[in-house]
Amino acid sequence: MTALHKPEALIWDIPGGIHPAERKELSNRTPIQPAPLPMRLIVPLNQHIGAAAEPLVAVGERVLKGQLIAAANGFVSVPVHAPTSGTVSVIGPQPYPHVSGMLAPAIVIDSDGLEQWCELSPCVDYRSLEPSLVLQRIRQAGIGGLGGAGFPTAVKLTARPTQKIHTLVINGTECEPYITADDLLMRERASALVSGIEILAHLIQPDQVLIGIEDNKPEAIAAVQAAIGERPFSVRVFPTKYPSGGEKQLIQILTGVEVPSGGLPADIGMLCQNVGTCVAIHDAVILGKPLISRITTLTGEALARPMNVEVLLGTPVGELLEFAGLDQGKLNRLIMGGPMMGFTLPDFAVPLIKTTNCLLASTAAELPAPPPAMPCIRCGECAEACPASLLPQQLHFFAIGQEHEQLKAHNLFDCIECGACAYVCPSSIPLVQYYR
Ligand code: SF4
Ligand code: SF4
Repeated sequence: MTALHKPEALIWDIPGGIHPAERKELSNRTPIQPAPLPMRLIVPLNQHIGAAAEPLVAVGERVLKGQLIAAANGFVSVPVHAPTSGTVSVIGPQPYPHVSGMLAPAIVIDSDGLEQWCELSPCVDYRSLEPSLVLQRIRQAGIGGLGGAGFPTAVKLTARPTQKIHTLVINGTECEPYITADDLLMRERASALVSGIEILAHLIQPDQVLIGIEDNKPEAIAAVQAAIGERPFSVRVFPTKYPSGGEKQLIQILTGVEVPSGGLPADIGMLCQNVGTCVAIHDAVILGKPLISRITTLTGEALARPMNVEVLLGTPVGELLEFAGLDQGKLNRLIMGGPMMGFTLPDFAVPLIKTTNCLLASTAAELPAPPPAMPCIRCGECAEACPASLLPQQLHFFAIGQEHEQLKAHNLFDCIECGACAYVCPSSIPLVQYYR
């Protein structure tokens, strides 16, 4: 930490981007609420990128809150813990949050209502531990990135062991409309966030730590600044624009440096972590608590009481919506995630998982169905909006023709599926659906 310096607060811009209605005021006006304890939790064995965990418990077995119930299966895999105390009632295929309505392997726990914790092993003085032991605590706590695809955090921290990471970027952008989970987390858990950043800085020994927050979160910015105090971490506030929160986009905004096409931030000596992941790292390393809950936004005009909740992983989505006052008559489309990058949930029985940052219960007036797609008029607006400087209309034609080499040559893999191109398309072509 001695090598850390606080750089000048410069910011840069990214290409493209859009300004959809933010709608964050629906859910960011009340404090985080604890969600009610469900009677039955469905805990999928795979809530992230990588291999599913292997069950360590049997049907009929009593488990304690926080107990390891499934072990990581290989390097890119994370373990799973019991979100509450109770009895294992099923191990097998269960509803899973996916657009297809598919089932996936899960451990079902019937709650005993006691919330009885297993024994935890806190560690206040993590600085006295070898970095490998700190990393092991992160790995064993089952932490995957809480901001996006849920890539296993310990894997991300060891992905390029020979590459010096000089810049640690902390992502507090939360640029997608409606979602306010990170905003509330920064307001209410700023000291745990800063503690998590300190742990990461201890592990990585970067030269600088940059915390990026959009300027539509003044309370979060103030809370994080206050929690940082004299520490040499730099909060960078920048104008709100979607999708500034993409990892590569945020790095460009905060450093002016572009991650090379097809490359990773680590290739240019940078590492990006979401604010929620930092809090989970604090909980794991300092308190010895595994990742069994998260903060999630419940929002949309079909809810009487939109809010943010701290919710146990495995809680059925239907119970959360009921808690937030769902009006079934008003509900048109239920989305997991936000309106730009989220997906429609076919079923209320699916559980909330580690990557669920938002449930959006929208009315027909709020998110109307797009008009039928028309032919491309080659207006170029999609290319103007693309934050990755791609040619979405070209990619669309190549995708229709299944021209895989052309898709690759036109850098399809730099697409972050942000949907900005489809949002601006006057012909209402669902461009992103083709790339996926
Ligand atoms: S915005 Fe739509 S119509 Fe315009 S060039 Fe792109 S795909 Fe074609
Ligand atoms: S979805 Fe992909 S192609 Fe479309 S604007 Fe976003 S990054 Fe560009």
